[in-house]
Amino acid sequence: MKELCCQSAEELFLLQKKEWAMLRMGYEALSEVEERKVRVMNAEFKIQYNPARLRSSSARIDKESIAARRCFLCAENRPSEQRGIAWRDYTLIVNPYPIFPVHFTIPTVKHTDQRIISRFRDMMQLASVLAGYTVFYNGPECGASAPDHAHFQAGTSGIMPIEAEVESCESEIVAQDGEKAALRIVRGLGRMAFVVDSFDIESGARLFEALYNALDAECGKEPMINVLCIWKKYKGWTTIIFPRAKHRPACYYAHGDERILVSPASVDLGGVFITPLKEDYNRLTATDLQAILDEVCIGESYAADVVGRIKNKTKIK
Ligand SMILES: [Zn+2]
Repeated sequence: MKELCCQSAEELFLLQKKEWAMLRMGYEALSEVEERKVRVMNAEFKIQYNPARLRSSSARIDKESIAARRCFLCAENRPSEQRGIAWRDYTLIVNPYPIFPVHFTIPTVKHTDQRIISRFRDMMQLASVLAGYTVFYNGPECGASAPDHAHFQAGTSGIMPIEAEVESCESEIVAQDGEKAALRIVRGLGRMAFVVDSFDIESGARLFEALYNALDAECGKEPMINVLCIWKKYKGWTTIIFPRAKHRPACYYAHGDERILVSPASVDLGGVFITPLKEDYNRLTATDLQAILDEVCIGESYAADVVGRIKNKTKIK
């Protein structure tokens, strides 16, 4: 059996494109998607018209709908053409509905709820195994279209503008683990985000947990978050966390002209904002985008509370 690495993952991608027509068409269609750029504060957003994502953006994730459908991440329900590479208790498969030039989904072998806290170290490890790809996680109530089946996704690095923007934007250090890791809050990017920079998995995971524990969550649920994780050889891990205030903005549920079908998740907050409908793609302005971000992300005063909670509990060294 093949071991998971960048090369084996890319070989799988090429093989699947060759032998699976529907998947091949998905990637061909991606090369023709329209994109335009808008600026929100100091951040760049690429608005992407991607009609193939309609199924994901409009996915029903209420309990009844989830219970009534066959889970598309369980091996027995996957298309017969789909192959995978085993890694730990996961399988890497090629995503047939791509946003990235190369787009993988990494579900667990077992059908089990989407939760990050026990799997964050796996996420970091996966980012280093798949160097050159950004691994991302959508919480069960803020973007995952399979909230009942644990999974990560990974896409070509360098496509989401925030990956570069967090390197140079205004930041405030919230906590540190010696020289090995730091947690900072970043500002000026139009949405509230935290970043963990770390040289090893344990110290990175400790600071991620400090943030996770400081965020409010409903009883028995995890705080609503989207997470991106990138590994680079001389830099270690950069993990970007977007705490969420709500899943979908009011315009998603509006009627008539007021309706904008957007369902923001990790990639949208990373700066590639997906619009599956052409009229939304054509009319979405920077002001609309800022209003949507203000609605679905956390605000300044709650962020300040979270920073205060972390500083009270962790010692800045
Ligand atoms: Zn499943």
